[in-house]
Amino acid sequence: MREIVRRWLVLDPRPGASGEHGSRGAPGFGSRSPGSDHVIAMRDARSTTTARVWVGSDGKVHREALRPPMSVLGELADMADHVAQAREMTGPTALDVAVIARWLDGQLDWITRQGGVVEFARVVRDLVAQLRPLTGEPRAKRVGECPNTIDEGEHTRECKAPLYAPIKGDEIQCRACGAKWARELWRRLGQILQAA
Ligand SMILES: [Zn+2]
Repeated sequence: MREIVRRWLVLDPRPGASGEHGSRGAPGFGSRSPGSDHVIAMRDARSTTTARVWVGSDGKVHREALRPPMSVLGELADMADHVAQAREMTGPTALDVAVIARWLDGQLDWITRQGGVVEFARVVRDLVAQLRPLTGEPRAKRVGECPNTIDEGEHTRECKAPLYAPIKGDEIQCRACGAKWARELWRRLGQILQAA
């Protein structure tokens, strides 16, 4: 749930802004203008997962993508409605992804004791899966240049590839030479980087 909110907040509907460009053949949708349509549909509470078919003014049959994107807001709101009705309580106070997600989070204890928890989990997983390719990973912080000495036979040189703070875990690893610094060594690494 937290991941949905975090990714929702960085979702950008500008064409090409979400790294969706060039994802032709990605499962679940065929986008006409890369990026924007898909993201806009996700941001639209009225989006439906039922594909529609219609006859256009050109006389041809048109069909929406077979699995149109789920509306993040719509799906969460539906789940909250469902829970609020079942429990005869007041639902979230605003039609807002962060507000609804926080409200649902507070209901998890009850939800996990219901038969519908399987469907609930599936929707949450699907929403995360749908948001992931559009929102990427949080940008890693650059900490300096890799000071590892590379032995090239007669000569040695410093690796100097950019080093990034780990997004998860507690090990800094150089993407170029593979040198690793566990948390216990960060202080020493810091001193070396500062000296350089
Ligand atoms: Zn390196």
